Amino acid sequence: MTPQEQAFWERVLDLAVEQFSPKTYEFFILDGKLLGVQNELAHIQLPEVKQLFWKQNTADIILTAGFEIFGRELKAQYHTDQEGDEEFLDQDVKPIMVAESRPSFVDSSLNGKYTFDNFIQGEGNRWPLGAALAVAEQPGSTYNPLFIWGGPGLGKTHLLNAIGNEVLNQNPSARVKYITTEEFVNEYVNSTRLNKMEELKQEFRHLDVLLIDDIQYLANKTGTQEEFFNTFNALHSNGKQIVLTSDRAPAQLDGLEQRLVTRFGWGLTTDITPPDYETRVAILLEKTQDFSYKFKPEAIEYLANQFDSNVRELEGALKNINLIATVNKVDEIGIDLIAQALRAIKSETSTETSVRVIPIEQIQEEVSRFYGLTTKDLKGPKRVQNIAFARQVAMYLIRTLTDYSLPKIGDEFGGRDHSTVLHSYNKIKAALEDDMALRTEIETITQKLK
Ligand code: ADP
Ligand code: MG
Repeated sequence: MTPQEQAFWERVLDLAVEQFSPKTYEFFILDGKLLGVQNELAHIQLPEVKQLFWKQNTADIILTAGFEIFGRELKAQYHTDQEGDEEFLDQDVKPIMVAESRPSFVDSSLNGKYTFDNFIQGEGNRWPLGAALAVAEQPGSTYNPLFIWGGPGLGKTHLLNAIGNEVLNQNPSARVKYITTEEFVNEYVNSTRLNKMEELKQEFRHLDVLLIDDIQYLANKTGTQEEFFNTFNALHSNGKQIVLTSDRAPAQLDGLEQRLVTRFGWGLTTDITPPDYETRVAILLEKTQDFSYKFKPEAIEYLANQFDSNVRELEGALKNINLIATVNKVDEIGIDLIAQALRAIKSETSTETSVRVIPIEQIQEEVSRFYGLTTKDLKGPKRVQNIAFARQVAMYLIRTLTDYSLPKIGDEFGGRDHSTVLHSYNKIKAALEDDMALRTEIETITQKLK
């Protein structure tokens, strides 16, 4: 790369830093590489999925940097990794959200506490987050509609609000509305009853951004579906942004008219999957940073392992933990306190089939104590017969008394393989059939754990 090209690219990145939020920058910009500048073209290498964003949002930046460094008008040509001869696509003209005359103030109903800043990126939400950032940056032109679906407590409502908050942040006069589908249904029903349909139409068909949550609730509501269909068309055909969330994929939305389902697929459909362990830890660190209590690092790890499919439950647990910490005036939150808080939660909500939460550590401690060992021995590599046996008992008990997965149990024993855990479990189970003494031992330990 020539020094001039180098300077040009640095300028592009600087301008991008100024223009975009840190998350957007990280997600869309950092992947770009300048291959070179020839004549009127800046050749930029970029994963294909990120090219649309660049085309729609960085033309000005490239122009500015081009004039500053090369003194001429530059356009970008994007290349994916494998090939270099992709046809040059003209820059799309940026549809700028014009501040038309604003007849009435819109109550956005947004929850200001859900922002991009406090949304943690992880494997399970990379694409929904990326798409949400793109939509917030340029409503109505990137992915329209954006349809985000996934299980409960994974951040759909959070993302929806984050989009709205970011749009208003960049353009305070934008007409943004967040509404749950249930509220929309209620508004529709009330409007019909009170003969105020016209007002409802006015309210929704003149938005810049409609954020509608949990669209699955529209199932079988024929009248509301009709009105929503018209709203959708009015907004979409005017280039206004629609973002929907749902607990299932569009094709799975039974009870919804096909013409609606089809429209949901016009833009981008993307799903959120549960956060992995590292993401859960990161979320916990984010959510506990304002707490007046310190968490021991192992306490955060322990808690992150208790909930692996629902961030809302994780947060619910945090609230309980905070409460118990306050009542008990503790200095530092450890595993004990968390286990106590979780027991309280589980007993509130438990059905008979639910598994009691016993921390793995507690079982390891009881077993070690019973056999006169240390937990270090138990978790360590030693294969001495009595230690190996106690270890098998501990694995057996963890598998019977908790619902941890085999790999997770293996992890808690110095990273042993899940097949070792299964083998131990089967071995003890078989031994129990005719070993009275062992049965008594295991019963004794179990009693202590209850
Ligand atoms: P959903 O709408 O998918 O059921 P929510 O958006 O209501 O889930 O999320 C539940 C809770 O979990 C919210 O308080 C939200 O802030 C939090 N949450 C979920 N995912 C994340 C994440 N990746 N980073 C930070 N908080 C998250
Ligand atoms: Mg939700």
